[in-house]
Parts: sequence; C-alpha cells; structure tokens
Amino acid sequence: MAHLERFAPSPTGPLHLGHAFSALTAWERAQAAGGGFLLRLEDIDTARSRAEYVQAIFEDLHWLGLDWPTPVLRQYTRLPAYRNALQKLDKMGLTYACTCTRRDIANALGAPQEGAPLGPDGVIYPGTCKGQNRQGPAAIRLDMAKAVTGDITYFEGSTPVTTPRAEMIETIGDIVLARKDIGTSYHLSVVLDDAFQGITHVTRGADLRPATPIHALLQNLLGLPAPVYHHHRLIRDENGKRLAKRDDARAIAKYRAEGASPQDIRKMVGL
Ligand code: GLU
Ligand code: ZN
Repeated sequence: MAHLERFAPSPTGPLHLGHAFSALTAWERAQAAGGGFLLRLEDIDTARSRAEYVQAIFEDLHWLGLDWPTPVLRQYTRLPAYRNALQKLDKMGLTYACTCTRRDIANALGAPQEGAPLGPDGVIYPGTCKGQNRQGPAAIRLDMAKAVTGDITYFEGSTPVTTPRAEMIETIGDIVLARKDIGTSYHLSVVLDDAFQGITHVTRGADLRPATPIHALLQNLLGLPAPVYHHHRLIRDENGKRLAKRDDARAIAKYRAEGASPQDIRKMVGL
C-alpha cells in the first residue's frame, strides 16, 4: 500500500476528544492520499487494559464514521516477536539488564527528582547497572552510547528532523526496551508493529514527538523501514492543560450520551 496510516490507542480508559482528533486526523490523511487506515490496540500493559474499553473504542470510532480491517492487531499477541527483536539487540551487544527500582534510580541521582533532567520516559537513567551483568528480575535497557553511532534522522513530512548523537545520549539515555513485568515496552512494540503492519505514515500527538528519535534509532538497528511522521497539535481543556487518559469529563461517550453528533465532535476539536 502506498499510504497506510494507523490509530493505536491503549484500551486503558475511555477515548476522549484528544483521541477523536488523533484518529480523525490519521483517517483524513489516509483518505486524502487514497490510502488505508488501520486500528491497532496497544495492550501490552495487560494489568491496565480492559475488555470494556476495547468495546468502547470500537463503538466510539465507528460512531465517528471510521472503519478498519479486522481482526484488529492486539499487541499482547506479539510478545514472541518482541522477544526476538530483543534477542537480536542483545546479540549485537547493545542491551543490559537493569534491576533498579524507581527508588534506586532516585537515590543514584542524588538530587531531588524535580531537579533531575527529564527524557521522553522520565528521569534519564544514571547507568547504575551498566556493565554489572545483573541477575534476577530485570528490565532490559538499551545502551545508548553503544547503539547510536551517528546522528539520528526521521522525516516529518518531507522535512528531515535530526537529533545529534550526543543529544541522544544526554537527553534520552539508556531507555527501557523491556519492562520487568511485561517483557517489552511501548518503544519496542510500536516500532515492530508499525513495520509488521506496513505502516508508511504515523500520525500522532505532539506529546510523542520526543519518542520519535528513539523509534528512528530502533528502526535503524533492526533494519526496519522508517515511516514518515506527522505530529499533530494537542487538544487542551479550557485551562490549556492537555487532556489526560483519565479525563473522563471529555470522553467521547459522555458527549454521545448528551446527544452530540459526530459533526459536533469534529467542531469541538477544530476540524
Ligand atoms: N498507544 C499510544 C497511546 O495510547 C500511541 C502510540 C503511537 O501512536 O505511537 O498514546
Ligand atoms: Zn539499573
């Protein structure tokens, strides 16, 4: 397919106006290009994913006028593929086991958490476990200094966006590729699934822009094709605060129940 977009929510809460905007934007970009649109459920966090939210996602999106091929890919079925990729990176000597708890990391950073520099996944890991060959339940981290050998570039439309190697190391650091509890991570799963599903264009919120250089790096390392990215504006509440997953007040279902039409939703998000 020349142009394939996706919307990839996690079924951990009701879809709100921000999700509606994201899904409709991806859908419209696919339509404009004469391309296709997929729905994928990012449900690796099985402790937080709920069947009722899966149903609600289908209902809300159909109600908005969207359609997609079935069956919908569910990430929890892809754990073997994630494990393979992890092994590949491990064989390349780019990973290490990390047994740190949040508290260990906070202690290693010394300073109060608020002062520590933040990367796309929170505080930048101080490297405590690197070279330690830790045993027992561990997260698997990417050794960023080994993994990045040059600047990392992805495309925002036709515009190249480059993150210098030093910035990858200093502002992102040794990210978690596989969490202790679920054996994978958002970054690893999203990159493998976009490639597996042949996604050519990724449309998602600007909140995920800091994660995109990580995804470009993983695509390079794993020899995967790189989609083109479009990071869209975020939907904010009247106080200018970005809508959170927990923001049930702006759930699409709530507006539906109050008699809003899909057209009303489009207007609310500025489409
Ligand atoms: N599953 C992610 C979320 O719920 C989005 C993933 C993506 O679009 O790359 O925010
Ligand atoms: Zn550690």
